[in-house]
Amino acid sequence: MTTTTPVDLSALTPLIGGEPYRPGDDHDVIEPATGNRLTGLPETDRAGIDAAVSAARRALPGWAGLPPRDRASHLLRLADAFEAATLEMGELEARDVGKPLADARAEMGSAADKYRFFAGAARTMTAAATGEYKPGLTSLVRREPIGVVAALTPWNYPMGLTSWKIGPALAAGNTVVLKPPLEASLTSLLLARIAQDVLPPGVLNVITGSGPGTGATLAAHPGVDMVSLTGGTETGKAVMRLAADCMKRVHLELGGKAPVVVFDDADLEKFARVVKGAVFRNSGQDCTAATRVYVSEARRDDVLDVLRDVAESMVVGNGFLDPQVDMGPVVSHRHRDRIAGFVEGAVRSSGATVVTGATVPDSPGAFYAPTVLTGVQQGDEIVQTELFGPVVTVSTFSGEDDAVAQANDVRYGLAASVWTRDIDRAMAVSAQLQAGTVWVNEHGPTAAEMPFGGYKQSGVGRDLSIHAVEQHTNLKHVAIGHGRSW
Ligand code: NAD
Repeated sequence: MTTTTPVDLSALTPLIGGEPYRPGDDHDVIEPATGNRLTGLPETDRAGIDAAVSAARRALPGWAGLPPRDRASHLLRLADAFEAATLEMGELEARDVGKPLADARAEMGSAADKYRFFAGAARTMTAAATGEYKPGLTSLVRREPIGVVAALTPWNYPMGLTSWKIGPALAAGNTVVLKPPLEASLTSLLLARIAQDVLPPGVLNVITGSGPGTGATLAAHPGVDMVSLTGGTETGKAVMRLAADCMKRVHLELGGKAPVVVFDDADLEKFARVVKGAVFRNSGQDCTAATRVYVSEARRDDVLDVLRDVAESMVVGNGFLDPQVDMGPVVSHRHRDRIAGFVEGAVRSSGATVVTGATVPDSPGAFYAPTVLTGVQQGDEIVQTELFGPVVTVSTFSGEDDAVAQANDVRYGLAASVWTRDIDRAMAVSAQLQAGTVWVNEHGPTAAEMPFGGYKQSGVGRDLSIHAVEQHTNLKHVAIGHGRSW
């Protein structure tokens, strides 16, 4: 295993206007694999938030006024500097949120790729052709940045999803105030240090603090023009309300409860290879995680066998120290207790059957066993509500229509997968599933070039792809009257 000199945590600070900012240590950062305190983080108060928003506002004309080519070269330099810090970034993230080191490092490579993609996308925006849509009037369309973007990020892929948030905002010429979650702020503070050397001061500001405190004040701030959140559905609703007073643009990537529809003709060998990651990657703390499996009666036992074998083969432990570990702890003891409470409730009150797991390992860390449940009803809380943990339920369907109806019968609509060798069925079912991403005989991969986002209460707007960049712009129609027709 390649290791590096550990980052000096006491030297990591928020960044405002290109300068380090350190008001105090208000929150403890706990390492989930050990329960030990790593460091402290400041709660940024109103004065700090005002300073960050003002710095972003001051930097706006210069950054927005750069030709796309020059913004792209800054983003490419950010990608290079970020990639050069992969080892430190990976170690910091693995310790901060408990994910296996190899996974954390892989996430850094993926984030660098996103900065490179958005650098290129900055130069390729689209709109209607300039032309004479009325006699004597030439119309052209300008795409202008929206202004100051508040970016609120989650803890499950801290650096991966930060690149999805700030990449398109910066590419389109906006400036950013980034507020990461308390559970995973350390890599964002290292990113701030990297950005200090490669971006003009104030283009990216990073502040820390709680969601309902610093996050809410930032989202409501009159100097912020757009709020871009990746987080839970209830947080999305709160942010929408906070943004309403000033009618800010909102971009919301929210919770999910992805269904997996397995037909009789599915390739279960491939299914077995894919579900390991689809269900248990990142300890199930993935908005696209396969959480509800629907299978025909005829294949139910086969699918249960596959899931049981996969769950019981998972090596659970401290993936920062042990490269053999497949799955680390969940992000915090509080979150682990929430997951355990949901599973206990499903077994006690709804009559769910435990196929495997449903236990809390004896450890000071926030571990939860990979868990497979069956015997659940569609209306049960465990089927309807996002758990964000290593837990999957298995239910049966009576036919294609019933499969689609049950898959769609939740408030979320982020991702889904369908498993069949029948192309007609794959096309028909993927068209009917209410989700922003539908995989056929796969579950999980995303691509920088393809849009990612939710139907229903899974969100508003799209991350990734040129669509994300364009959603961080205002469209302006400039109509030039000239009295000539030709
Ligand atoms: P969260 O909603 O608790 O927090 C997300 C961010 O919002 C954090 O920075 C937090 O501090 C901030 N926040 C919380 N309350 C706020 C408020 N009232 N006002 C302003 N800001 C506030 O989410 P989390 O627990 O960090 O992440 C897990 C959630 O994120 C899950 O629901 C998951 O599905 C979702 N998620 C969605 C996607 C997606 O692309 N759709 C991707 C990853 C995670």
